[in-house]
Amino acid sequence: MFKIPLPEIINKLQQHSGFDKQEIIVKIKQKMDELSGLVSEEGAAHILANEMGVKLISGLESSRLSITNIIPGLMNVSIIGRVINQSEVKEWSRGERSGKIASLLLGDDTGKIRLVLWNETADILKNNNLTGKIIQIKYAVAKESNGFGSNGVELHTKSTSKIELEPEHPDTTKIPLFDDEISNLKQNNESKPSFSYIRKDIIESSENELNEFRAVIVQVFDRIVFFEVCPECRKRARKEENMWCCGEHKFQTPVYSMVVNAVVDDGTDTIRCSFFGNQAENLINMDVNSARAKFPEKITSEFINSLIGKEILVSGKINYNAQFDRKELQIRNISLPDYIKEAELLLN
Ligand SMILES: [Zn+2]
Repeated sequence: MFKIPLPEIINKLQQHSGFDKQEIIVKIKQKMDELSGLVSEEGAAHILANEMGVKLISGLESSRLSITNIIPGLMNVSIIGRVINQSEVKEWSRGERSGKIASLLLGDDTGKIRLVLWNETADILKNNNLTGKIIQIKYAVAKESNGFGSNGVELHTKSTSKIELEPEHPDTTKIPLFDDEISNLKQNNESKPSFSYIRKDIIESSENELNEFRAVIVQVFDRIVFFEVCPECRKRARKEENMWCCGEHKFQTPVYSMVVNAVVDDGTDTIRCSFFGNQAENLINMDVNSARAKFPEKITSEFINSLIGKEILVSGKINYNAQFDRKELQIRNISLPDYIKEAELLLN
């Protein structure tokens, strides 16, 4: 049995009843009193919801659940989403058991979620590029996930899960196109640098190496530096009289880039990382313009706290900072740990 957190029940009751939060909390307390304290707060909230005709769980079977409402523990999740990204299908084996695994990033009008396809369910990707297509997944299991950008939850298929390609469902028209992300992804794949990063423990890395670490964000510095860059070549721009110049191009209006610094820890050691431009955007999950609007002075501690503890894969070049006598990582890429690759690394 899954548990719906009390704040979520209160939220739902608020949305569907017209009472405000305080009133609902009072009603829950009254209900507890009425039942002589025999039920917990959650229990009372469930009873209240039932009396008010508010369905706390909807769309578990054939109708769809919004991605934003998926919480770990749900056993029969059905969602409709557009495939934003798909992995390759890989084989796995452990002891006597073996099978296949792949993953998809799905998006709907409320959010995004990673769907891990186990065994036969991964066959849908065989010779199929689903990117940009809408699928319906039924009877998937929602599990906790501490991956970067996962909002704490991901979906996994089980043997009874069903996947339907381009389902006939009235809600498909509500699903956004995710055009930007899908085309960005294509560009990224095409322009992927040919560097190969060596996975290491932080403690074993040394200067000038191209390394990759799987680590947890343990600190993010609140200072965020914005600077003007050339809209054409993205080089640093300076103002010369009335025009901006990058050394090559002249233009009226620069665009902005930013730097964010953080420390990551992989259990063997910590390393300070600097994130520039896109990598900084990926780290804080926000584009530079939104970041400028939201954090004109510095990043709020509340926001920093939301990043602490996230697990990420970072790769880049190890620099030696003589002033502080420490290694630093100049980030070239930040991503979520890839489920399949991590499984393979563990198996090998
Ligand atoms: Zn330029």
